[in-house]
Amino acid sequence: MKQPTIDWPAAVKPLLKKYKNTQHPLEAANLYQWIVMVVLSAQSTDHVVNLIAPEFFKAFPNMRALAKAEAELLFPYISKIRNFRHKAQWLVKTAKAIKNDSNIPLDIDSLVELPGIGRKSANVIRRGAKASPEGVIVDLHTIRVANRLGIVNTTTPEKIEKELMEILPKKEWDAGMAMSFLGREICRPKPQCPICLMKKVCTYYNGWKTGSTVKKKVAKK
Ligand code: SF4
Repeated sequence: MKQPTIDWPAAVKPLLKKYKNTQHPLEAANLYQWIVMVVLSAQSTDHVVNLIAPEFFKAFPNMRALAKAEAELLFPYISKIRNFRHKAQWLVKTAKAIKNDSNIPLDIDSLVELPGIGRKSANVIRRGAKASPEGVIVDLHTIRVANRLGIVNTTTPEKIEKELMEILPKKEWDAGMAMSFLGREICRPKPQCPICLMKKVCTYYNGWKTGSTVKKKVAKK
């Protein structure tokens, strides 16, 4: 059966409601910590970043302290993080450019200029700072869930973000993070569809056909 027309802005409301107060797994306490932890978390796990963060922030409590350091000084604190040498250089470069926490930018265009920060990271930082969304967070979980739902039919993060920004009104742009939370809890690689609040509108669960073979594509992951 073909995928029926779905009113996605209405369909994602329960998902947004369920996760609206859910904190991002990174345990950052302020904007400076968000910048550092988001850079460190790329291709690493949030769990490892949370583990090393307290000692790191004791040694480098703010941008000003970090700006005085050389990259090598960071190594002992972040050696468990993948690609830590490059990340240390990026963080020190950022700190030397920004100098003080009060200068940290919050607009997406400025954030993505910083080394190690792409659109997903910039969107996560803005969410952490409780700023209104300027984009949609698209991580690996979002990619899987959005395709299974059938709200998009592409695995390219930039395309997914653009499409979700077109399909959903701005006040619902936190849906990317909500899909990510659903992907971490329920719509895991082996999905728990019977307990999922999105099953009525889900292409994967209902076996609907889209323009392409969504079900096959995500099942291979
Ligand atoms: S119904 Fe199943 S496949 Fe669809 S979003 Fe929920 S868990 Fe994922």
